[in-house]
Amino acid sequence: MIASETLFTRAKFPDGTLKTVTVSGGRITAISADHVSATSGQEVVDLGGRLILPGFVEGHIHLDTSFFGGKWISHKPCTDGFDVHERVAFQHQNMAIAEPMDVRARKQLELCIANGSTSMRSHVMVDGSVGLKSLETILKVREEYRDRIDIQLVAFPQSGILKSPGTPDLMDQAIGLGADLVGGLDPASFDRDVEGHLNVVFGIAEKRGVDVDIHLHDAGTLGVFTIEQICDRAAALGMQGRVAVSHAYGLGDIPQDAARRTAERLAKSGVSIMTNAPGANNFPPVALLREAGVTVFSGSDNIRDSWWPYGDGDMLGRAMMIGYRSGFYTDEELEAAFDVVTSAGARALRLQGYGLVDGAKADFVILEAEHVPDAVVSVPKPRTVYKAGRPVAQNGKLV
Ligand SMILES: [Zn+2]
Repeated sequence: MIASETLFTRAKFPDGTLKTVTVSGGRITAISADHVSATSGQEVVDLGGRLILPGFVEGHIHLDTSFFGGKWISHKPCTDGFDVHERVAFQHQNMAIAEPMDVRARKQLELCIANGSTSMRSHVMVDGSVGLKSLETILKVREEYRDRIDIQLVAFPQSGILKSPGTPDLMDQAIGLGADLVGGLDPASFDRDVEGHLNVVFGIAEKRGVDVDIHLHDAGTLGVFTIEQICDRAAALGMQGRVAVSHAYGLGDIPQDAARRTAERLAKSGVSIMTNAPGANNFPPVALLREAGVTVFSGSDNIRDSWWPYGDGDMLGRAMMIGYRSGFYTDEELEAAFDVVTSAGARALRLQGYGLVDGAKADFVILEAEHVPDAVVSVPKPRTVYKAGRPVAQNGKLV
């Protein structure tokens, strides 16, 4: 007989209390004080007092360009400082010698699932150089893993929109094919036309009714100027809560008072910020943004690819990095870092039925830690990951 309900007993909640979580039909149907006894038709999973956490939200990753799990491809530095154009050229060279895309995408997905991500947003290249080929491949892979992870795909113009012939049409077609969001890339420094670039991005968003997530590496005031243009578009189109700026390094370059002003504008326009607290770059001031009411979320971004050799698909580890680089020490600050990779991520991605609450999807991670701040600093690796109430990964391996 297949049990119609599962009782997860002795689940330690972030507030320290032990509870029983009842799951039925892939959803949490009750959360009650412990010592609920099972009746017939109920399966019992004793969590033994381990910590229960909501499934992690991988809010920014590239499933099409990672080499994770394949042969090592050494990082090639740019000729003169960081140059997005040159990095894109290196990426094309590397893609030509890498394993087939579907093989690489599966390895990377499995890494993320095993580490506890139950929802994801991935950018996939759509431009004149690759057309819709990458998207077609990743759409198939998404379908294979649909019971293990929810994936949003962004049509990402890696070679620019105006600089890469045919890209506006391709991005529009990408939405028709199954991409969920329209992306963008450094409107000023890549296409050298902020207005023209954003006209295409927001034009498609408006026509197709999809959300927006734009890569913005531009530093200092150029980056902030672009952010302001994006905020204005979001507000004008009534797209509050549906637009994200990924990286937004510029926010980390400007003085506090200027950052605060921009944060207020972001909050008012409902534009969220994605940061992965990357290595040597200045990055957005997470605490300042959150204080102003901006949704800050995170992702692994590149994992072992042409941009850098780092990344392990672990969003709990990412919370630690964000906290470490932000100078977060108190319990409240560590909880904020955790919020960035969970609830704030869910808000940015507009996930329905997220969290450890009655009625939510039964997506959770079980691990050994005293509480959330302890989990963030110790990043325990042994984990069991549940998607819709079913175990999908244990101790780093898919089940
Ligand atoms: Zn990216």
